[in-house]
Amino acid sequence: MDTNELLKGAGALASRHRVGAGGAFQLHRCDPKECGQSAGLNKIVAQELLSQGIEVMADLQSKLYAQDHWSILLVFQAMDAAGKDGVIKHVMSGINPQGCEVHSFKAPSNEELDHDYLWRSARRLPARGSIGIFNRSYYEEVLVVRVHPEILAHQKIPAQLLGKDLFEQRYTDICKHERYLNRNGTVIRKFFLYVSKAEQRKRFLERLDTPEKNWKFSLADVAERQYWDQYHEAYEAMIQNTSTEESPWYVIPADTKWYTRLAVAAVIIDTLSGLDLRYPTVNPERRAALAQARAALMAEPS
Ligand code: ATP
Ligand code: MG
Repeated sequence: MDTNELLKGAGALASRHRVGAGGAFQLHRCDPKECGQSAGLNKIVAQELLSQGIEVMADLQSKLYAQDHWSILLVFQAMDAAGKDGVIKHVMSGINPQGCEVHSFKAPSNEELDHDYLWRSARRLPARGSIGIFNRSYYEEVLVVRVHPEILAHQKIPAQLLGKDLFEQRYTDICKHERYLNRNGTVIRKFFLYVSKAEQRKRFLERLDTPEKNWKFSLADVAERQYWDQYHEAYEAMIQNTSTEESPWYVIPADTKWYTRLAVAAVIIDTLSGLDLRYPTVNPERRAALAQARAALMAEPS
């Protein structure tokens, strides 16, 4: 497939899963099992497309880095075992680690709790020219914290600020924060890897039954599974309230790993290719200086 065709395909796949702004999103209309079969996709085709896509992505990333103007923030949120780690590993495998950083956000430390909730992620935002990946993010503040409001008690927020519209305020503040970043050159894409409850169960059982996967199993994950419906409500409300034109959410079906990886790659390629990235051009003075440097090198005795 030539690059133009690949870019067109990536654009089409990305727009299938993009959530528009305006709050009309409904999670039950998405299918975690979707894997593009009607469009002729299968595992072999998807793997081939992914490896071609990774080459295109590497080329775009190299321009992003050289141009040094934009930064890209990719946010990944999901229920456990939806495949965040695998997506990050596979999709980013071809790109230059020099211009890419991954940060995982777990329960906040004491130092982090001594600050506002955006502080810890603000410190890890990607520099210009770089791609930053957040494996979980400040969105946990409207997910796990909404499902378990008792967490708020440890956040040291003054009691009179804990009103009933706390989560509404968080949606507003997060959108404004992202808008501020957009206006400074950070392009944000947010992914919800949507796995079904049945597939999560299957993956947990695999982790229990395969010795090499035992380390991935956590008893806490099974406990969280009991809150499945509450998490779904929290995810739906989060996406309704924080998917914007500039920083959209993508709901990526996650029951079929090869499809999840391809769809995420498609969004990243579509995003990078929309930025008109170019290597910096050399002006006449610099070209003359380069020619002089070349001449000096050539004049050295070999
Ligand atoms: P994996 O299970 O694949 O290793 P993970 O992202 O699930 O990756 P864990 O260490 O299992 O990593 O889980 C991190 C936990 O930290 C999650 O349960 C998440 O909800 C929690 N967490 C993240 N941010 C916050 C936050 N701001 N407040 C409270 N809990 C949080
Ligand atoms: Mg986990």
